Amino acid sequence: MPSMPTTRASQDLYARARRVIPGGVNSPVRAFGSVGGTPRFMVHGEGAHLVDADGNRYLDYVMSWGPLILGHCHPEVVAAAKDAIDRGSSYGAPTAGEVELAETIRDAVPAVEMVRCVSSGTEAAMSAIRLARGATGRDTLVKFGGHYHGHSDALLVDAGSGVATFGLPNSPGVTRGATADTVVVPWNDRTAVEAAFRAHPDGIAVVACEPVPANMGVVPAEAGFLEFLREITAANGALLLFDEVMSGFRVARGGAGEHSGVVPDLVALGKVVGGGYPLAAFGGSADVMRQLAPEGPVYQAGTLSGNPVAVAAGLAQLRLLDDAAYKGLADRADQLIEGLQGVFDAAGVPAAVPRVASLFSVFFTGEPVRDYAGARAADHGRYARFFNGMLARGHYLPPSGYEALFVSLAHTPEDIASTVAAAHEVARDLVA
Ligand SMILES: *Cc1c(COP(=O)(O)O)cnc(C)c1O
Repeated sequence: MPSMPTTRASQDLYARARRVIPGGVNSPVRAFGSVGGTPRFMVHGEGAHLVDADGNRYLDYVMSWGPLILGHCHPEVVAAAKDAIDRGSSYGAPTAGEVELAETIRDAVPAVEMVRCVSSGTEAAMSAIRLARGATGRDTLVKFGGHYHGHSDALLVDAGSGVATFGLPNSPGVTRGATADTVVVPWNDRTAVEAAFRAHPDGIAVVACEPVPANMGVVPAEAGFLEFLREITAANGALLLFDEVMSGFRVARGGAGEHSGVVPDLVALGKVVGGGYPLAAFGGSADVMRQLAPEGPVYQAGTLSGNPVAVAAGLAQLRLLDDAAYKGLADRADQLIEGLQGVFDAAGVPAAVPRVASLFSVFFTGEPVRDYAGARAADHGRYARFFNGMLARGHYLPPSGYEALFVSLAHTPEDIASTVAAAHEVARDLVA
């Protein structure tokens, strides 16, 4: 083991934080609850690296949980944001940037003819569900176990991300009424989806999924499953919502809709679309989107929606995401996935590194993972040891075995090789 880096400043900040912020953090997984140890308080990011309050430098594979596809502080994104800041932080009135962003999203994302901007992925998914219910006049929502759609009440059932990390089956405070119209089925299970449609004839407004599930670890759709969802929703007059907050502008410029060729009715976007600023969006066919206020009766609004600084940063980032960028991301993911899989195989550690394009995660299991039950059955204690061994060597992985790893265009082949080399050392301790 290398000598543990000093974490005195983070420890002091964490102690102070826990007195004034529940758990010391503003989003649960940041607390390192399932991996142990002191969460690192960050001071700045540069490219593929993070620097903490003690001056430790880490190669970052969290990248703000996805938004920073170009790395920290990409100069063009920074310049766009600074320029916008100098012209005003927020107007509460429309701007040209919002029109350009909506056109950019429409041009990139299959299914999207019109777009509404919001401030978080939670809002995007929640609003898309409301719109689907309003547009169909139906109540029932079908979601999949382990899929995460933010923390709005109706969607906070059997959810992934922090809910999975902390093993919370359901959250207190979410009433039976709020989830009475939410039906949860296992991912990749056609029979269960068919049964849900039989049980709710004419009642299902929308089937919501992460087309590339990445909040219970990465658990790809099996061959034909997205096509099946497209067919069964269309045949029953229900809408299909792809929550692409994670996969949008990441697995391809047009997200999973482009990558899989399956075109949903509604798409939720976040993370990459905002360039690291609080911005998200949802979109779909003009027919459905025109049901939103002020054109239609379905209400949705936001003081900071389409914030000019976030829009400028998002546009600057999206402008740089061309075919070469996605090729570059895939190459980096290839190198890391092959490297890690090789390390685990050589050490005799049963592990799988499932992926879709540049989205991937590590499961310590010899069994195939096709749903949430499979993701939970992986050895999360072993993941915690892996995480801590990597952290001690300066490689910052997601502090939960239920989260994806993120590469950015700022990661160099040398960076990734150094991570594989560190994993090689850590893997020896995993067999012990
Ligand atoms: C991150 C995420 C959300 C929630 O977005 P926030 O910006 O954290 O509210 C919703 N859906 C998916 C698929 C996500 O990955």
